[in-house]
Amino acid sequence: MPCAPMADGPVIAPLPGLSALSTADLAAWFEARGEPAYRARQVVTALWSGNAAGPAELTTLPRSLAAALDDAFRWTTVADDMVIASEGGQTEKALHRLWDGATIESVLMHYPATAGRRARHTLCISSQAGCAVGCPFCATGELGFERDLETAEILDQVRSALGRLKAGERLTNIVFMGMGEPLLNLDRVLESVAALNDTERLGLGARHITVSTSGVVPGIRRLTALGPQFTLAISIHAARDALRDVLVPLNRRWPVAEVVAAARDHARTTGRRVSYEVTMIGAVNDTDADADALANLLRGDLAHVNLIPMNPVAHTPWKASPMPVIERFASRIRAAGLPVTVRRNRGVEIGAACGQLAAERAGAPTAPAVAWRRQRLEAASVRALRGERSDEPAPAGVEA
Ligand code: SAH
Ligand code: SF4
Repeated sequence: MPCAPMADGPVIAPLPGLSALSTADLAAWFEARGEPAYRARQVVTALWSGNAAGPAELTTLPRSLAAALDDAFRWTTVADDMVIASEGGQTEKALHRLWDGATIESVLMHYPATAGRRARHTLCISSQAGCAVGCPFCATGELGFERDLETAEILDQVRSALGRLKAGERLTNIVFMGMGEPLLNLDRVLESVAALNDTERLGLGARHITVSTSGVVPGIRRLTALGPQFTLAISIHAARDALRDVLVPLNRRWPVAEVVAAARDHARTTGRRVSYEVTMIGAVNDTDADADALANLLRGDLAHVNLIPMNPVAHTPWKASPMPVIERFASRIRAAGLPVTVRRNRGVEIGAACGQLAAERAGAPTAPAVAWRRQRLEAASVRALRGERSDEPAPAGVEA
């Protein structure tokens, strides 16, 4: 049973989540109890491909063993508080509650089959509760940082989605584009990716997994050294430091040239194309000068640019760039020889709306707080557009 924090006194650590264990880990646990190792595979199979709500439902497992398992581990570490379908059921946002009351989100997106292309089911997952980076256009950024997720908490978002797929459907892609900055919780993210790759667990090829970062340079360099085959996405948003300081406060710590240099090395070393994401914000980062600065920065790189209209967020004065402006921006990038994709109607595709449910849950800020925040952002973006760098420090707690 999970343990809840007590109102007063020490917080009791919860039991470990089962999904973080490989078959070998679990076999060792069974063997230590004098039980055959094959039990491990039965449990792992039930965890990842069955609908059992707990060990007691495993008919292959003796009762005493099911009870011992239940006393030692949690079957799942996420409780699904609500699942909201939108776009005619094509998108499902799930709000998950964790043992300590923190809430996180995942978004499951269904893409029907088209001529020559199979149906896809993409899941966007969270790596942290909240986020320390504080990008002002992001609902999660507004929440602030709560804590890193455990490996099982990352994986159980995936198991929750598996349980909602219809017969014959399977997850085709997983993107770390939900709440949090994955490269600031890199050990657990890497463990999760290994579990997702593991053929005894999800068995999803690394090439179908994308990890998105706002630009944690030491994390990118660590990934390059390790050489995993998943796709790296860089949330670039602006090629000019003055503007990026405002849009991605981490830029004050690792400026854009350092981020792109690290991403370029990553592409060269792994031979894998890096994806650059730009959230398109009307009259803020969508000018010709911004397009040209980005084109010049990435020209000749093994790169792909994704342009995503900004999803509105209450506390900002900004909204999405109009589609013709996005198309014009795209054509200038394309003219530099870089492949570009414009995400038209599903801004949520890259997790744009991820974090909004949890933010709503956290309670809307008061009207004066929102007005004050909007005023500050407007002033900051006006200064940035004049080319003035921010003198505010980088967000605290972002050392990797
Ligand atoms: N922290 C990581 C991954 C999570 S955010 C990162 O920033 O890359 C995933 C993506 O959602 C990022 O590219 C981010 O810029 C984008 N995003 C956040 N809020 C958005 C919004 N309101 N509209 C559109 N995209 C948004
Ligand atoms: Fe954090 Fe990414 Fe949101 Fe920025 S966009 S605040 S890095 S989750």
